[in-house]
Amino acid sequence: MRIDLHTHSTASDGTDPPAEVVRRAGQAGLDVLALTDHDTLAGHPAARQALPPGLALVTGMELSCRLAGHSVHMLAYGLEAAGGSELAAECAAIVASRRSRGRDMVDRLRELGVDITWPQVEALADGVVGRPHLARAMVAAGAISRPEQAFTPEWIGAGGRAYVSRYALDPVRALWLIAQAGGAAVLAHPGAVSRGWKIPDETISALAAAGLAGLEVQHPDHDQAERSRLGALAADLDLVPTGGSDDHGSLTGDRIGRETCPPESYERLLARYGRPAGQPG
Ligand SMILES: [Zn+2]
Ligand SMILES: [Zn+2]
Repeated sequence: MRIDLHTHSTASDGTDPPAEVVRRAGQAGLDVLALTDHDTLAGHPAARQALPPGLALVTGMELSCRLAGHSVHMLAYGLEAAGGSELAAECAAIVASRRSRGRDMVDRLRELGVDITWPQVEALADGVVGRPHLARAMVAAGAISRPEQAFTPEWIGAGGRAYVSRYALDPVRALWLIAQAGGAAVLAHPGAVSRGWKIPDETISALAAAGLAGLEVQHPDHDQAERSRLGALAADLDLVPTGGSDDHGSLTGDRIGRETCPPESYERLLARYGRPAGQPG
């Protein structure tokens, strides 16, 4: 059984529509796929409708959290229709803030002489506007030659000249909201130093006590040493070691199914759906 529990579509910052993501998942020989767009379940109806035979779709998302000034991503799986839930309301707030923040960053970039406009950036997104869309607009405007050059202190890297922070959830509160919505929470890419901050073990241990179900161990940003270390930590804390490709379509080079979740981990994760978490933060 081949399982990829981390993918993005145009419902957030991936380059392929949900139907194309599930088509590629089928082609990659996957049996189970989680579509985990940032702060939204919006891609799920289209993904479900286009589901190739033999592929199971897990309802998921990647929630934007912030801890001690650092960005933390929390994967949520097995969510029931989140409409009307507190989680849905928080997601709407995050998406709205992402939007106004996108506008603010466009303003700052314009002040820095980059000739891009908000409608142009919005046209590149299909819902949630993220920094990758700004980066693509910057390439189109000729300010940089490759999207990754935008993610530096010079431009829109964290703390950069045109960077604007946005609303995000406290991770403990996120755990509570996910449990309320019937799901299970997995800490995304905890050892990805390239993202600026490696989540300390003590923090992971505190989140485990607050209801975290799993740790994403198999991720493209983790080297072998990091995978072994996180695997041992997950075992110590009784967390489920999961995995996924974090595919964003052509933005990351088609890598769907290149990282997978062990079937026994997936089984353990299913058993954690809806288990009550800690107190709301
Ligand atoms: Zn992430
Ligand atoms: Zn992701």
